[in-house]
Amino acid sequence: MLKMDLAKTLEILPRSIWVFLCNSGSCNGCDIEVVATLTPRYDIERFGMKLVGSPRHADALLVTGPVTKYMTERLKHIYDQMPDPKVVIVVGNCGCSGDVFYKSYSLDGPVDQVLPVDVYVHGCPPRPEAIIEGVAKAVLKLEALRESLDSKEADVADVAQS
Ligand code: SF4
Repeated sequence: MLKMDLAKTLEILPRSIWVFLCNSGSCNGCDIEVVATLTPRYDIERFGMKLVGSPRHADALLVTGPVTKYMTERLKHIYDQMPDPKVVIVVGNCGCSGDVFYKSYSLDGPVDQVLPVDVYVHGCPPRPEAIIEGVAKAVLKLEALRESLDSKEADVADVAQS
């Protein structure tokens, strides 16, 4: 069992994940921690994570903040522009649950009220190590989605040939 998991992890590990960061109304605390993961101390790029400037190039959408009403449609628009398969990572208590802003008049969030969320990273703000762990979970989820998408495409091809 352990050998199988290790083999799977080693197979997935060399693959990169390109991430688009969206601040949906955060205080910037979480965004600073995301930036910290890119510094030489944590260097998340060695695990293949890269921040990209366009959602069209992204495998993952990383959201910080509780989703203000102003950001709801923008967030959905960003998500719609991303190619499949894609995952959503929420970083910080505000985005995960609303935290102290829960049910505030100015919010449509937390994020899972607006988008399907795959990975939650709790903390106010979460430490860079927790964000790196969240990204690793997102890589595994992305791989599972890729496999199911590939098998669906193979089924469609079989039906078309028969
Ligand atoms: S979780 Fe904390 S650090 Fe992150 S956006 Fe909310 S208040 Fe700021």
